[in-house]
Amino acid sequence: MCGIVGYIGHRESSPFLLEGLRRLEYRGYDSAGIAVLGQNGLKICKTAGRIQGLVDKLIDTPLAGTVGIGHTRWATHGQATEVNAHPHHDGGSRIAVVHNGVIENYQSIKTTLEGKGRRFYSATDSEVLAQLIGYELESVEPSADDPYRHLVTAVKAALDQVRGTYGLAVVFRDYPDVLIAARLGSPLVVGIGTGENFLASDASPLVGHTDRIVYLADHQIAVVTADRLDVSHREAGQVHWNAEAMPINAADSGLSGFDHYMLQEIYEQPTSLENAMRGRLSEEHATAVFGGLNLTPRQMRGVNRLVLTACGTSWHAALVGEYLIEELAGIPVEVEYASELRYRNPPLDPETLLFAITQSGETADTLAALREMKRKGHHTLAICNVVGSSIAQEADGGIYLHAGPEVGVASTKAYTSQCVVLAMLALYFGRLRHMSFDAGLRIIESLQALPAQLEKTLEVNDRVKKVAERYAHCNNFLYMGRQFNFPTALEGALKLKEISYIHAEGYPAAEMKHGPIALVDEHTPSVFIMPHGKVYDKVMANLEEVKARGGPVIVVACEGDTDAARLADEVIYTPHVEEFLQPIISVAPLQLLAYHIAVLRGCDVDKPRNLAKSVTVE
Ligand code: GLU
Repeated sequence: MCGIVGYIGHRESSPFLLEGLRRLEYRGYDSAGIAVLGQNGLKICKTAGRIQGLVDKLIDTPLAGTVGIGHTRWATHGQATEVNAHPHHDGGSRIAVVHNGVIENYQSIKTTLEGKGRRFYSATDSEVLAQLIGYELESVEPSADDPYRHLVTAVKAALDQVRGTYGLAVVFRDYPDVLIAARLGSPLVVGIGTGENFLASDASPLVGHTDRIVYLADHQIAVVTADRLDVSHREAGQVHWNAEAMPINAADSGLSGFDHYMLQEIYEQPTSLENAMRGRLSEEHATAVFGGLNLTPRQMRGVNRLVLTACGTSWHAALVGEYLIEELAGIPVEVEYASELRYRNPPLDPETLLFAITQSGETADTLAALREMKRKGHHTLAICNVVGSSIAQEADGGIYLHAGPEVGVASTKAYTSQCVVLAMLALYFGRLRHMSFDAGLRIIESLQALPAQLEKTLEVNDRVKKVAERYAHCNNFLYMGRQFNFPTALEGALKLKEISYIHAEGYPAAEMKHGPIALVDEHTPSVFIMPHGKVYDKVMANLEEVKARGGPVIVVACEGDTDAARLADEVIYTPHVEEFLQPIISVAPLQLLAYHIAVLRGCDVDKPRNLAKSVTVE
């Protein structure tokens, strides 16, 4: 969480910093600030609230200078106030620091430094970094042969004392031609320009500025000047870096004709599904083909259990994967919350393969779970969207979603792409085992038909909007589905919670009688996801039970389902698809329902309160 940017070069830094923060705003948006080094020394401007507030403030008091850092915050310690916004300084305005992460032992460091007479200004954990670096700087001597060595020494000395995670950038009033950055657990990239260099939490602020990116790794410290980048490892010394190509382009960013990124991304799903499948379906062998698993078919054949670990929406995709893989491939699958797995000690066979599923590739808990499984000797694979992200780099192999940047905080296209990748994996594992060539081909056909079917599904938008208008005032919703569509119920409820702030619960429909049915009344709509399939009649019985108790019923059903239309208050039709692929289709009306309800309630759809997109803290 939180976005960091930095600039050093020959141009004014503020325009890049502000535009960069805008592009990173999805990572956190409760307060923002920049620090710029110019003729007048080191100046900081910050504000509570959104980047726009900072931009407005800078119109009156612009900060001039060709070196600067910026931050958009998702508060972990201390409220979202101006004083807690980053950058933080060392008390004497000699240095300024922006930080992404959590300093777990900040309180004891703060107490020690206060005992030495230093005054603290904010309630954040991050300020100790600024104060500590400032403190360490006082006792290191500049070296004659390297103008920045003592700065690195001070930063290192500070980092040696902190426990936790950080991606950080530092500017020094008395050294206006250098930026220092360091990372442990929170992402940082350096963009290599000509006579200028850039720093950011991910590649998006660098689009249009450079095509060359250096991904910093944990424990690395970067010394960045206008025309040089030196990277060292905290213990191992100098690191030889390689620039990689920019993973995204300008066409990937920006709104094109939609009011919100979330709606745009819902509509991008037919394309993102195509992109996820491109080149990965082989009719010749009736299977899926993945380039980066880094295991031979023989090793894959030896896998006897899969653990899928994830958080939030990706965890729902993992549940879809569990149904798919067990059904099509017959391999036992465990789905684990990454935040639980990282501290659990499940007895696992050595032939267990781990998939870490994540949009950003930076989710702190998922990364920690992956590391723990790796440490135990399991082969680990990532299913992830952001190229070059920490999880993509640390996994032994993986599958990219190729969904393009997802900006809306509530995940939509990444979710359906994760589901389709898991469907392809189910096909792959199935074909390594008992699945016949013909069955494999039929699945390929069904997968290939999905983008057009999703396109068709999205035609329900106007109908869903009408349903939203009728129920937007309700304060509780139930979502129910069974089998393949039980995760869809969870995901539909989560979407509504995230962006409309409406209490919603997702349940396996049959579980309703064990508790949730007590919530049913005329003000609590129940959304049933019940396309045709083997449990259709069972879900229909649950629907009747809700109707019998006076609860309004909204149904997502297959085209032509007159029974559902007769019983339900509202029906939203979707095309017929194979049962195991229904989650990829039936979630779309639920995404739209959450979207329209949020808009009707005046919520900030793309930046819902208290949330951020990339959860890089534990
Ligand atoms: N822990 C820091 C704070 O609360 C940084 C949070 C973040 O990564 O956004 O200010």
